[in-house]
Amino acid sequence: MLARRHVGLDAIRAAAERIQPHVLRTPMVQSASLTERTGVPVHLKLESHQRTGAFKLRGATNAMLMLPADQHAHGVVAASTGNHGRALAYAARSVGAKATICMSALVPDNKVAEVRRLGADVRIVGRSQDEAQVEVDRLVAEEGMIMVPPFDHADVIAGQGTIGLEMIDDLPEVETVLVQVSGGGLASGIAAAIKALIPAARIIGLTMDRGAAMKRSIEAGRPVPVDEYPSLADSLGGGIGLDNRLTFSMCAALLDDIVLVTEHEIAEGIRHGYREEREVLEGAGAIGIAAILAGKVALAGPTVVLLSGRNIDMIRHRHIINGWDVEDAP
Ligand SMILES: *Cc1c(COP(=O)(O)O)cnc(C)c1O
Repeated sequence: MLARRHVGLDAIRAAAERIQPHVLRTPMVQSASLTERTGVPVHLKLESHQRTGAFKLRGATNAMLMLPADQHAHGVVAASTGNHGRALAYAARSVGAKATICMSALVPDNKVAEVRRLGADVRIVGRSQDEAQVEVDRLVAEEGMIMVPPFDHADVIAGQGTIGLEMIDDLPEVETVLVQVSGGGLASGIAAAIKALIPAARIIGLTMDRGAAMKRSIEAGRPVPVDEYPSLADSLGGGIGLDNRLTFSMCAALLDDIVLVTEHEIAEGIRHGYREEREVLEGAGAIGIAAILAGKVALAGPTVVLLSGRNIDMIRHRHIINGWDVEDAP
């Protein structure tokens, strides 16, 4: 039984119409090598080709477009060094609003420059993400900015769910979907869309074995904190929030399983993506390929693997392609 607050098909369909002028409808292609290896048709949803290099643009754009226009002058704010920060900067610019992204002084210059290039106001505060978040809270309280969180927000989840609608449009006979899980906005949205239209489809969540916050939380029956370690799948780091409102109960209700993948397997996924599929992928983006190569998911019927992003440092990518795993990288 779904709780009343869960994001449903109507909200996801409305989001698809709303964000359509601002985001790419990404292609889906069949993988010859993975189809041959598994014996079922395996299709890759190339959300790594999305503007800004990751799917997060969908949720950020939907959240921006749901704000009343008089809020645009106050602007939106988030503490994010990664794909959500880029997405929010881009989404704000495309609707003519202001975005402020707070980052700690330890964030590398190239990441700061990238968000500035997308037109956001970057504030460097403190020496940790927690300290950057304190500045976000201050800007919300004192300057009336609106915080757009990266996953636990109905409009963000609905935006990510539009990927599920496109998967079904392109492969109506889909039986299994492999999707990344960190905070769970992506998996909640996609699972809500697909299970509403194809109730028998299986949605398998994937994350790294280092700090699998959603899996541990579902096992515990409540959101729990996890230790964080460096991972090749850096976009999957972080907790789900101890006061999680939506994604914890949606993932618990809608995901058939959450499978854990090692660093070595993620590196294999990145290599396979490049050599066989000719795609540059970040660790999180390659985790579905990694799970298939490792034989960790039993595939039945036509399968879609989401490639969620490609924002990886290209020097690190080259090292991985040359056969180094994360532990070896300088
Ligand atoms: C954020 C992100 C994820 C995980 O999305 P959640 O909604 O936090 O579960 C997966 N892949 C990439 C590339 C991301 O940026």
